[in-house]
Amino acid sequence: MRVIRLAVVCVCVAGATLAAQRGRGAGGQAPLNLPPDSARITALKQEAADEVDKLKDFSQQMVDQIFSYGELGFQEVETHRYLVDILKKNGFTVEDGIVGIPTAFMATWGSGKPVLALGSDIDCIPQASQKPGVAYHDPIVAGAPGHGEGHNSGEPLNITAAIVLKKIMEREKIPGTIKIWPGVAEELVGAKAQYVRAGVFKDVDVALFTHVGDRMQVSWGDRAGTGLVSVEYSFKGESAHAAANPWRGRSALDAVELMDVGWSFQRELLPISQRSHRVIVDGGDQPNVVPSTAAVWYYFRQTTFQGIKDLWAIGDRIAKGAAEMANVELLPTRVLGAAWPQHFNRAIAEVTAANIQKVGVPQWSDADIALAKGIQKEIGARETGLSATPGGLSGPVSEAENTGGGSDDIGDVSWAVPTVTLNYPSNIPGLPGHNWANAVSMATPIAHKGVTAGAKVQAMTMIDILMKPEVVTAAWDYFKNVQTANRHYEPLLRPQDQPAIEMNKGIMEKYRPEMQKYYYDPTRYKTYLEQLGIAYPTVRK
Ligand SMILES: [Zn+2]
Repeated sequence: MRVIRLAVVCVCVAGATLAAQRGRGAGGQAPLNLPPDSARITALKQEAADEVDKLKDFSQQMVDQIFSYGELGFQEVETHRYLVDILKKNGFTVEDGIVGIPTAFMATWGSGKPVLALGSDIDCIPQASQKPGVAYHDPIVAGAPGHGEGHNSGEPLNITAAIVLKKIMEREKIPGTIKIWPGVAEELVGAKAQYVRAGVFKDVDVALFTHVGDRMQVSWGDRAGTGLVSVEYSFKGESAHAAANPWRGRSALDAVELMDVGWSFQRELLPISQRSHRVIVDGGDQPNVVPSTAAVWYYFRQTTFQGIKDLWAIGDRIAKGAAEMANVELLPTRVLGAAWPQHFNRAIAEVTAANIQKVGVPQWSDADIALAKGIQKEIGARETGLSATPGGLSGPVSEAENTGGGSDDIGDVSWAVPTVTLNYPSNIPGLPGHNWANAVSMATPIAHKGVTAGAKVQAMTMIDILMKPEVVTAAWDYFKNVQTANRHYEPLLRPQDQPAIEMNKGIMEKYRPEMQKYYYDPTRYKTYLEQLGIAYPTVRK
C-alpha cells in the first residue's frame, strides 16, 4: 500500500510529496549558481515579511469569505465578484471574463519587465460542506459543496503578497508588472489550458502558482503524478415502452454500461501508472422508458502526453464498440477539460526554497494541534498533528519512478512559461483529499497562519525575481535549454473544445439559496468561526 502524506490530492498535488518521500530533490544535483541576497534585498525581504504580518486580519477575512461561498467550478460567481472588487480597490486593472469564462479574469498592476503572474485555484468540491474547526462530519448545509480541497486560501495568499510588493515597488521605484489570475474550475481541469491556448501568458516572464498543502514545499523538474483529458461520451438510441414494446427501443444506457464494462476489462492490460475513472451523467429518466439518451464522463490520466493520448484513443475505440453492440449512435465527443503533466522551473524553485527556509513553519497553538489530531483520529489517520518543519525543495521524478497520481492543469501553464507551485501548510496531514475532512481546517487559524507564512515566501520570491535579473535569465535558460529541449507542448484541447461553463450550474442553483444564509459577514464578526458560533477546536470527547 502506498500512503500519500499530503492533505490534498486534488485533481492536483500528490507529486511533490511523493518526490520528497523518496528523498530526492535538491539531493544529488548541485544548485544553480544564482546570486545571493544583497544587503538591500535582505532588508526588503524582512520588510515584506513584516508587512505580510500586518495584513494578517485582511488575509484571514479573504480566506473565510471565500470559504463561506463554497462554489463549484465555473460557478465561482461570488468569489469572482469579491476578488475582482478587492483587486480594483488596490489599484489593479481587471480584464474580466477572459477566454469566454465569466468567472475568469486577469488583473494587472505596474509596468515593464519582469512580468510576474500569480495564480491559484478558487473552486470547491461537491458535497464537501463542513463546519470549520469541527473535527467530525458536520456540514454547514447538508449535501452542499464545500472547500474540501482548500482552494479558498491561495488567492488570498497571492493578493496579500502582491499588495505588499506593490507598496515596496512604488516607494523603491522598482520596475515590473504583477498579474493575478484565478484557477477557475480546477477540479474539472477546465480553464488553464484554455488560458494557454488563448495566449494569456505570452508576455509573462514567470508564473508563481500556489496550492494548499499540509506543509511548505516546492519542486522542480518532472513531477510525480499525471496529466489528463476529461471526455464526455454521449449516446443516442430510441425510446419505447419498456414493458409493452421493448423490441421497438434501442437503449443508449446499454452503450454506457457496455463501455464501462469494456474499459474495466481493458484496465488489467494498462500500464500501472494510468488512472481512469468515470461517472454516469445521464443514465436515462425512468425504468419504464427505454433510455434514448445516456452519457458517461471519463478522466483518462497518464504520466506523459503520449500516454494520455493513447488512453484516450482506447476510450474512443471502446465507445465505438459499445455503440455497435447496443445498436445506438455515438455522438461527437466533448472534451470538458485537459491538463498536461507538470514540469516546474529549477531556478524559480531554488529561490523559492531558499525563502521557505527563511520563513519556516507557523507557530501552531495547542488548539491548532488538538484540531489536527482530532480529525486525524476521527478518520483513522495517524495522529501526527501539524507539520513542524518546512518541506523544502524536491527535484525531478523519472518516468520509470512515476507511478501516477493526481493532476493539475497548472501543467499547461508550466509548458508555456517558467512556473513553480508553492505548497503552504494551511491543511492537516493524513486526510483523504476531496472530502469534507479537508475542509475542517480551511477557515481556522491553521489556514490563516499557513496563508500568512506562504504569502511571506511568495513576497520574498517576487523580490528575487524583480531585483535579480539573473534569476529570470536562469529560469528561461532552463525552460528553453532543458525543459523544452526535447519536448514540445501540444494542446490536448481540440480546436472545437470550448470552456464547459454550464457545468455545475444546476447544483449551485439547488444549494445556493441555503448557503447564502451562511455567507461570512466581516462587518459583524471578526472571524467565520465566531459567526458560526463554533468553539475552537470542537473535538469529539
Ligand atoms: Zn487543488
